[in-house]
Amino acid sequence: MSAPISTGPAPDPAPAPRPAPGSVPLDLSGRTALVTGAAGGIGRACALRLAAAGALVRAVDRAAGGLDELTEAARGLPGRVEPRLLDLTDLDAAEAAAAGTDILVNNAGLQLVRPLEEFPPDVFHTVLTVMLEAPFRLIRGALPGMYAHGWGRIVNISSVHGLRASPFKSAYVAAKHGLEGLSKTAALEGAPHGVTSNCVNPGYVRTPLVERQIADQAAAHGIPAERVLTEVLLKDSALKRLIEPEEVADAVLYLCGPQASFVTGTSLVLDGGWTAH
Ligand code: NAD
Repeated sequence: MSAPISTGPAPDPAPAPRPAPGSVPLDLSGRTALVTGAAGGIGRACALRLAAAGALVRAVDRAAGGLDELTEAARGLPGRVEPRLLDLTDLDAAEAAAAGTDILVNNAGLQLVRPLEEFPPDVFHTVLTVMLEAPFRLIRGALPGMYAHGWGRIVNISSVHGLRASPFKSAYVAAKHGLEGLSKTAALEGAPHGVTSNCVNPGYVRTPLVERQIADQAAAHGIPAERVLTEVLLKDSALKRLIEPEEVADAVLYLCGPQASFVTGTSLVLDGGWTAH
């Protein structure tokens, strides 16, 4: 008699626990999260979602007004928002602020749209500091605690510009490509300690950062501001709308939840089909 033919992979000797069917609300009570750039846009949406799931959220930003407003908005949620006024160019302070966090959302960012030959070197340096070096220092500050607990979630808010370039955005594209590499390295080093690291890569999100860009893009491309959305920003997007900050926050929460325990070192692209081209 011939040997039985295997029809699939050998059974996993230690299968991962399966989540119960149905949608179980994510419970992050007892977890401490740190979100940078939490005073507005995507960071604010992430901080509110994490607090709604029960986490204690250290909300880091240099904008005091937005932090006050966020703290007010979070009242009544199961978790709590703890505002931390901090400029991330103070790298030592950034690293210290991350100690003891279980969830780190590297989100703060800034943008300048300018041709390379006119791009101010000091702005290039600041963009790289806030969007690449600060995430490195925050990860560095958070990892010892995460390793000690055997659990951690690092979520890096990258962009389509972590995977693709656009003209006039040299610093931003360079920083986001660097963040992708940092995130993958953290995934490889963190895996034996229960720490995952991933990027979330939105297309254009309805935030102040994008609203500010419209005027800059109009000048750079020599077209009126009202044509920038369809002809420049959403030119390569199959879905012709901006994505909402709350939709990005939902992706961040997914990466913190049990359904994503095997997801690490990857980039979760929310780009309306932009990179399908
Ligand atoms: P935003 O301008 O609304 O918010 C950015 C926040 O970062 C602000 O609150 C700002 O005060 C803070 N920040 C900037 N520099 C800082 C510093 N030195 N120290 C402390 N805080 C600082 O921007 P957003 O659109 O919500 O962007 C958040 C992240 O999402 C960024 O990393 C951005 O690159 C990324 N992203 C945005 C879009 C988009 O279309 N808006 C698309 C893809 C990726």
